[in-house]
Amino acid sequence: MNIPEIINAQKAFFKTQQTKNVAYRLQLLKALKAEIIANEDAIYTALNNDFKKPKFESFLSEYGLVISALNLSIKNLKKWAKPQRVKASILMFSSKDYIYNEPYGTVLVIGPWNYPFLLALEPLIMAIAAGNTVILKPSELTINTSNLIEKIITKVFPETVVKTIQGGVDTSTELLAQRWDYIFFTGSVPVGKIVAKAAAKHLTPVTLELGGKSPCIIDQTVNLKLTAKRIVWGKFLNGGQTCVAADYVIVHKAIKNDFVEALITEIKNAYGENVEFSEDFPRIINEKNTKRLANMLNGANILYGGNVAINKCYVSPTLVAVNDMNTPLMKEEIFGPILPILTYETETDIENIIWHYEKPLAFYIFSNNKTFVENTLAKFEFGGGVVNDLLIHLANHKLPFGGVGHSGIGAYHGKHGFDTFTHKKAIVKRGNWIDPPVRYAPYSSKKFKLLKTMFKWFG
Ligand code: NAD
Repeated sequence: MNIPEIINAQKAFFKTQQTKNVAYRLQLLKALKAEIIANEDAIYTALNNDFKKPKFESFLSEYGLVISALNLSIKNLKKWAKPQRVKASILMFSSKDYIYNEPYGTVLVIGPWNYPFLLALEPLIMAIAAGNTVILKPSELTINTSNLIEKIITKVFPETVVKTIQGGVDTSTELLAQRWDYIFFTGSVPVGKIVAKAAAKHLTPVTLELGGKSPCIIDQTVNLKLTAKRIVWGKFLNGGQTCVAADYVIVHKAIKNDFVEALITEIKNAYGENVEFSEDFPRIINEKNTKRLANMLNGANILYGGNVAINKCYVSPTLVAVNDMNTPLMKEEIFGPILPILTYETETDIENIIWHYEKPLAFYIFSNNKTFVENTLAKFEFGGGVVNDLLIHLANHKLPFGGVGHSGIGAYHGKHGFDTFTHKKAIVKRGNWIDPPVRYAPYSSKKFKLLKTMFKWFG
């Protein structure tokens, strides 16, 4: 079947109403969970073959989160899916009012390469939980993981419910040219704009999970060792290829040298003196991106690291002192294990740096000064953030995960994910036993007065 035929088959299946049946959805989610568990080791192997992702990180940041999303949706689906009764307005007495949770229909999910298993599977799980059919296009750059995803999906789902379509830009372009009921895209800002444009043609609703330059501010009140340890973990996890990694730090000038020393100590503690031989440090996804990162280091003031082997897709954890916003490192999202270190003395210095960029996906502050923390959280716009750590806001399914402005549109995770793939249908069920006459013509000044009083009291 070609792409339009697959979509038509899914649309026809959607009309049979079978995906509206919660028991059917649960059966699919349980089968998916069983198949993923059966492939646990194969998933770790695929991720390791794609970019030497360590098993530990593959569990922590992909497999474990996917199983959690499945467990959560299996446990709560009946509650999430049922119509929710809301308080009725007395102006419409008598009625019973509800929100019906309606699937959009046939959904396109496009995934990136950096967390190739998690970021393909989690949107898929929530789309299925919500009762949609899905066409999934995983990243073409993680071929081992994408092949395994296709194998798992082919085993679990009929093609009329979920179909994996693999390919690169041409395939993605062809998919985007079709008419969808919803598009969920995770990837870069430039491609996000292409997706938004394609969706606008058919007024298709979208979620865009994008990226950007996420800052990390460190003031003088911190415990340097703990701060450095957490930053090294969050920045160099996944080889720095994390959408919510701290792209750069802004540290108070007075503690910059001590902070750099603390970072170097923690890098050595985590990965040893020669990181290239550490089993715990992933590679860059391909040579093209390794070269891109190497070019960013041209002429840079490297404080530590800076070792690059293009043919091995290796860039070591690297610290760079930056005092010019126009260096290549500060022009675009880094998306690799390079940490620019900028300094500040006043809050205006911080504003000048952060407001130089689009609204970031993530925002981090390390500080024990509550006033500074609250003022800073209130002052800047960003997708989500953490005080005194990196990344962990994405691990709480009760928190919505997404960007704002150029870092994205919409959010998901946990119930927020179910809601993302659900149209909230407003339903009023009117009673017939009473029919107040006030709204009906012929209108009169008496009725008008009564109407105004009713709006004043109950509106
Ligand atoms: P990308 O935008 O290059 O690719 C993402 C997907 O889009 C891939 O499946 C790819 O095949 C497709 N694609 C690429 N070019 C296209 C085009 N011209 N037309 C249509 N489709 C196209 O992103 P990437 O390099 O895979 O991922 C890295 C980016 O994703 C970073 O910017 C990162 O910040 C962002 N990201 C965001 C999140 C999030 O949750 N917000 C998560 C991970 C990554």
